Amino acid sequence: MYDYLIIGAGAAGCSIAHFLKKAGKNVAIIDRDGVASGASGAAGAFLSPLAGKKNLYNSFVNDSLSFSLDFYKKLSSESLIKRGVLRVADKNFSKETLNELKNEHYSSKKLQTLCSDFKEIEGFFYKNAGHINPAEISKKMIAECDFYKKEIVELTYKEGVYEADGVRAKSVILTQGVSSSLVDAPYIEINPIFGLRLDAKTTTKIPFNIHKSISISTNKKDNTIAIGATQQRHDSTQMLCNTSCDKCSFYVDDQKAQVEYLLKKAYELIELKDLEVIKTYKGARASIKSYFPVVGELIDYEATLEKHPSIKNGTKIPKESLLYHQNIYIINALGSRGFVFAPYLAKILSQYLLEKKEIADEISTQKLFFKYARKKRD
Ligand SMILES: Cc1cc2nc3c(=O)[nH]c(=O)nc-3n(C[C@H](O)[C@H](O)[C@H](O)COP(=O)(O)OP(=O)(O)OC[C@H]3O[C@@H](n4cnc5c(N)ncnc54)[C@H](O)[C@@H]3O)c2cc1C
Repeated sequence: MYDYLIIGAGAAGCSIAHFLKKAGKNVAIIDRDGVASGASGAAGAFLSPLAGKKNLYNSFVNDSLSFSLDFYKKLSSESLIKRGVLRVADKNFSKETLNELKNEHYSSKKLQTLCSDFKEIEGFFYKNAGHINPAEISKKMIAECDFYKKEIVELTYKEGVYEADGVRAKSVILTQGVSSSLVDAPYIEINPIFGLRLDAKTTTKIPFNIHKSISISTNKKDNTIAIGATQQRHDSTQMLCNTSCDKCSFYVDDQKAQVEYLLKKAYELIELKDLEVIKTYKGARASIKSYFPVVGELIDYEATLEKHPSIKNGTKIPKESLLYHQNIYIINALGSRGFVFAPYLAKILSQYLLEKKEIADEISTQKLFFKYARKKRD
């Protein structure tokens, strides 16, 4: 009998497993394909700040980043490569936006002195950035937890105990990414955003990560680099992402074009000498409209609306009066910043579970619940 059963061993699941285990809980984690096999295995995994005038979202991203960089350094300093990132202006981030925090400007001449392979570009240098090996980090996070490779098709609940394919626990945390949720939560409207990243060999020595719509990493220990990532939404007939990327015709047919796109974008920034693509990785990011991730206790949608039908017309009901699925929690919708968000969200959820510390409204299940209930009032 476990205290917590976590379903999904990506960045989200491994992070919360780690925090709960460290707090002395008995934790099991399950994944049908192994650790970091979903979006998490495909991630760059670049850890970069979000530029621009301070607002709720970029403050959340940048707070997560500081926490997570520190967390990864303590967990495994050799798995974190923190040499900063050069941000080059594009249509989404103008020079003014990138210079909001008065970052150091790197002229084309200065870049040439650092590495003669830089193209005629200029940018702003952000020190607080790096990248990690996502699979290595995920495995380290759950080194002390019990891991089961199983596909869970059903969760049963009897006399205060959950059971998933023979594994029993008092509480369940769903960290399933784009897969269909094992517990009905229609108000968490996940959209998959596909992506491809590649690893390549090059003799060019890249002094720091570079980002302009795509990212190029500095050289890793084995001298390879990561280039990522493309972003593609399923067309409307394929919105439900229930298959692995390798089996999805939408994806497989498009792979060559995506690799070419990434390389073309990379060459606009730097000459990559003796380049050889050694591996491509594919995955689907789970995203919701607000871009904020979601964390907390799962609300029973139907039962709550049956008890409080006036919620549909905008009546405010205190959080405590909503009806919840017993001891079921979620971390999801990490979007394109899964490894930036995951440890921070795990800290937030563990503090909620162990200390009853409130979860901020913008990332709460309640916010999505009220919004969805009002939208669906007809
Ligand atoms: C190409 C690409 C590049 C990216 N680059 C970056 C980056 O540079 N930096 C960054 O921070 N983020 C990046 N991301 C985003 C990041 O990878 C994701 O946000 C993050 O990995 C999501 O983690 P997760 O744990 O929520 O989901 P996932 O990693 O998808 O994990 C969910 C897991 O749940 C398992 N699962 C689901 N249902 C069941 C079930 N019923 N039974 C058993 N197992 C189940 C799945 O097998 C899967 O392994 C990138 C994503 C992609 C696709």
